[in-house]
Amino acid sequence: MTEKLYYKNAYETKFKGVVLSCEKNAEGCYHIILDKTLFYPEGGGQPADKGTLGGVCVVDVHEKNGEIIHYAEMPLEAGLEVVGEINWEHRFDLMQNHSGEHILSGIICKKYGCDNVGFHMGKEKITIDLNTQIPEEDLPLLEKTANEAIWENTPLTIFYPEKEELHRMEYRSKIELTGEVRIVKAGEYDCCACCGTHVRLAGEIGMIKIVGVQNYKGGTRLELLCGKRGLAYYQKLHQAAHEVGRALSVQAEKIGNAVNKLLIEKEGYAQELRKWKWEAFLNKIEKLPKDTENVLIFEEGLGAKDLTALADLAARQTKGRAMVLTSSENGFAFVLVSCKKDARELAEELKKSFDCKGGGKGEAVQGRLNGDKAEIMGFFQEKGFLLAK
Ligand SMILES: [Zn+2]
Repeated sequence: MTEKLYYKNAYETKFKGVVLSCEKNAEGCYHIILDKTLFYPEGGGQPADKGTLGGVCVVDVHEKNGEIIHYAEMPLEAGLEVVGEINWEHRFDLMQNHSGEHILSGIICKKYGCDNVGFHMGKEKITIDLNTQIPEEDLPLLEKTANEAIWENTPLTIFYPEKEELHRMEYRSKIELTGEVRIVKAGEYDCCACCGTHVRLAGEIGMIKIVGVQNYKGGTRLELLCGKRGLAYYQKLHQAAHEVGRALSVQAEKIGNAVNKLLIEKEGYAQELRKWKWEAFLNKIEKLPKDTENVLIFEEGLGAKDLTALADLAARQTKGRAMVLTSSENGFAFVLVSCKKDARELAEELKKSFDCKGGGKGEAVQGRLNGDKAEIMGFFQEKGFLLAK
């Protein structure tokens, strides 16, 4: 069994160890086992440490049967004593976030009598899955209580209680535990069985920030950022809020109201625009000669709804067929509406002459058509369509 130095002192970054074995795996990566190590292996929701062993890069660390396996890019000779160094920035980030997660989970589980059923420390965010629905309006107070643990600089203590003491204790655990149990206690805020690395004092966490909430498997998934990650997130939001504020000439704190106002204004303009568009359509159709039966309309900037509305209107007016096209990414989007014949017949002919895709019912077909505008006009004029001006 590898001696786990990270449990003796989570703040140590350098150590000396003897290489016991080094094997190349199928992917060309070297699996190195030492007599002791500071490298924390992935487990308990916490990712593995990064760093170097004898100058060789360690890219991943796993535990198997009590042995810690270092995944290295280069081999190290068995029997060699090497200096190992873990990436402290990475480790401390994980310590801040893992300890912060414990405190918040402890507070939530106590308050709602629920369990933390999932914990994942991603590259960007930490997620906690709770088997209860947490009202969103409760989150600010939960977050504040968690940060109070930081302001009080609550100590995090780690110990291995005897069986009987453990039996009497109330602690959180995701699984039924056997053998020696490692308990991490954060004052009165939390008591949890855990194999991760933690800060000594909650003050080192810096901040605990809930940045996301969603319903998840009947419970709640929270997204969390602590310490340096929390600050970086705040700085990014702050910057974005100021940029929006500058653009809207309001203070960053007031951008919510300002954006809502803009959206209401935008809806007003959109309604106005729809009205004008409709009038323009009517105007176009009224100008058609009285005996027009089939009409071809090219109109730019139409959305799918406008396209259908204009084709409907034109076909009803002529009591015949109306083909409306608008430029799109690949040629034209079109709607063909027919009051008499089956629109699909003409669509089939279109497909024979052009790169055309579409479908629909007897009274209307919609699709995309790729072709030269003059050729399209020629095709429809031959079928007795009049081009609307
Ligand atoms: Zn833990």
